[in-house]
Parts: sequence; C-alpha cells; structure tokens
Amino acid sequence: MKRSSIQRSNKPMKRSRLKPRSKKMSKFYKEVRIPVVKEIIGDGFSRCPVQSPVCTKYIEGVHEILPRGRAGGIIKAHRKDNLVGTCHACNGYISEHASWATELGWLKHYDYNEQTQST
Ligand SMILES: [Zn+2]
Repeated sequence: MKRSSIQRSNKPMKRSRLKPRSKKMSKFYKEVRIPVVKEIIGDGFSRCPVQSPVCTKYIEGVHEILPRGRAGGIIKAHRKDNLVGTCHACNGYISEHASWATELGWLKHYDYNEQTQST
C-alpha cells in the first residue's frame, strides 16, 4: 500500500472549536445563560460585591457560589440565587482562596439538597 501522497498528520485540521457543545447545551447557553449573564453584568458599571483584596470594582462576569461540579452540572448551578456578578479578579481570588470565600459566603461546598444525605 502506498500512502505517501496523503499527508494528514502534520498539520492540524482547520478547526478552532473548543469542546463541542450538545444541542441542549448550546440552547441553554443561548437562551438562558447568556441573557442572565448579560443582565447581571448590566452596563458594566455595577459594583462588584465581593471586594476581595484584588477587586477591580466592577462586575465583569458571573461567579457560581456552588460550583457547577458540585451542583451537578452547569444547568443546575444556574440558579439566580447561586449566581453572583463579580469582577474577574475576585472570581479568580475566590477560587484561589476557597476558605476565605467560603467564610464570606461566596463559595459553597455542599449541595442544595444535601442537608439530609451525605454520600
Ligand atoms: Zn471584585
């Protein structure tokens, strides 16, 4: 078998997609996630409520108080009472200083329904 004429291993294929999203997920992003994030960010001049030592003052994104991994997926984590607008710096600070954030209520480690059961 000759297969010298086809070179396909050297160059990456023309694709710049990240993880493919399922239809359900892209619908969720388009119809639920993005509008809410936009609403929370607002005009870009809402005050970041976290005010960590690195705070840049204005809300730039959305932080999940109960991380999606804990909540059982992004859709479950996407509850208004679980989302808080923060600046990027605080968002990073929260994940780097988990105990600080937990103490102040910016981070939770338990499931909403977990009170009775713990596995
Ligand atoms: Zn901040």
